[in-house]
Amino acid sequence: MLKVCKFGGTSMSSSIAINKVTEIIHSDDSRRYVVVSAPGKRDNTDIKITDTLYQCFREMKSTGSCNESFSLIYDRYMGIVRDLGLKIDMKTYLDNVKKGIESSQSPDFAASRGEYLNALIMAEQLGYAFVDAADVIRFNDDGTFDEDTTNDLVQEALSKVDKAVIPGFYGSYQDGRIKTFSRGGSDITGAIIARGVNADLYENWTDVSGFLKADPRIVNNPERIKTLSFRELRELSYMGASVLHPDAVFPVRVSGIPINIRNTFAPQDEGTMIVPHYVERDEKNIVTGIAGKKNFAIILIEKSMMNSEIGFSRRVLSVFEKYGISIEHMPSGIDTLSVVVSEEELKNKLDNVIMDIRSQFKPNTVEVYHGIALIATVGHGMSRRPGTSARLFKSIYEADVNVRMIDQGSSEMNIIIGVENDDYEKALAAIYHEFIG
Ligand code: ADP
Ligand code: ASP
Ligand code: MG
Repeated sequence: MLKVCKFGGTSMSSSIAINKVTEIIHSDDSRRYVVVSAPGKRDNTDIKITDTLYQCFREMKSTGSCNESFSLIYDRYMGIVRDLGLKIDMKTYLDNVKKGIESSQSPDFAASRGEYLNALIMAEQLGYAFVDAADVIRFNDDGTFDEDTTNDLVQEALSKVDKAVIPGFYGSYQDGRIKTFSRGGSDITGAIIARGVNADLYENWTDVSGFLKADPRIVNNPERIKTLSFRELRELSYMGASVLHPDAVFPVRVSGIPINIRNTFAPQDEGTMIVPHYVERDEKNIVTGIAGKKNFAIILIEKSMMNSEIGFSRRVLSVFEKYGISIEHMPSGIDTLSVVVSEEELKNKLDNVIMDIRSQFKPNTVEVYHGIALIATVGHGMSRRPGTSARLFKSIYEADVNVRMIDQGSSEMNIIIGVENDDYEKALAAIYHEFIG
């Protein structure tokens, strides 16, 4: 049995948490490769190390040094090393990191140092080797992930060490410059390492006892999902269930390695098993989980006989492509087409997009709705079960919420609705109570 374990920011936030992590790793000999995040929040008022490192970069950009912000980094790591009683020369590492941030001119370099320093500490704490992610995780020149080279490098480097700690969140270009994944990316690193060493299990340790049927910050004490399929996971995490990064499934899917979500602060709990195969759902478990996210815009284009114009949707999409805007959904009717994009993507580009659409397509109307939240209701049990959407819309209606958009995926395992941002929590809770309890 071989396990790769990834520990998230909360599990790394203090010496107390790190001691729990140490106990977990030492209690099972098969936990040989460990991926760590940077220290996260100790409580609601705290700041994540990664956020402070981005702040260091901004301070350096505007003043030429990062003295003020880096003092927070310094205090946090020195405190952890002191409380753990480690002999590592943290001061020298920290001094070098500060110099690096001040000379590298790269926000990715700055942000990556949180996991780098933390992995050095954990390697010392566990008596494991330190393997730098910059040496084994590779990006192409265009910024895309180089899957094949990475897999070869990970295999080669880790075949030489029996036990190792690897920092999450970053890798490097061929010329050595550091590049990070998007936020929460240590989950991806864990999956890459699991694939590289051909692990039997990828354990992802966090601060909740598994993947829950809804966001615990919105629904009070939601039920746990015992088993989740890779496909359901992908739909839920992409749609906002932030417990696992949506791209973490790809490396392990290649070799069919299951993922086990576990709680560092309740290690006796089984957590959630995420498995490569289809999961059969009975009558009581039609809906596996509900997830969502806020701040989208809907651009609604209406034009009579749109359907008879060959290539109409493609040409509309090319307008968005021209401005580098990626599209979330595109539900359409006979004479209408809606394009759903995040407000963030649309920022400063909306006027140009609308102008181009008006001049190129001469539509009857173009309307824009802002402040839309998307909610996805997901589960294998939903396919071929008539009445599921009727129940969903009835629950929304009874909660007095207006539905602004509907998109029923062709996979039959996902219904996405758009509601006003202000109605998001209410709508999500209503769907939860209708299907789950
Ligand atoms: P880590 O730092 O360990 O990577 P994250 O903060 O990224 O942890 O993810 C865990 C958090 O995800 C939980 O504390 C919880 O607030 C949030 N979360 C959102 N949706 C869900 C869900 N469906 N199930 C469990 N946790 C969820
Ligand atoms: N530390 C990084 C972040 O805060 C990566 C991670 O925790 O997965 O996004
Ligand atoms: Mg995370």
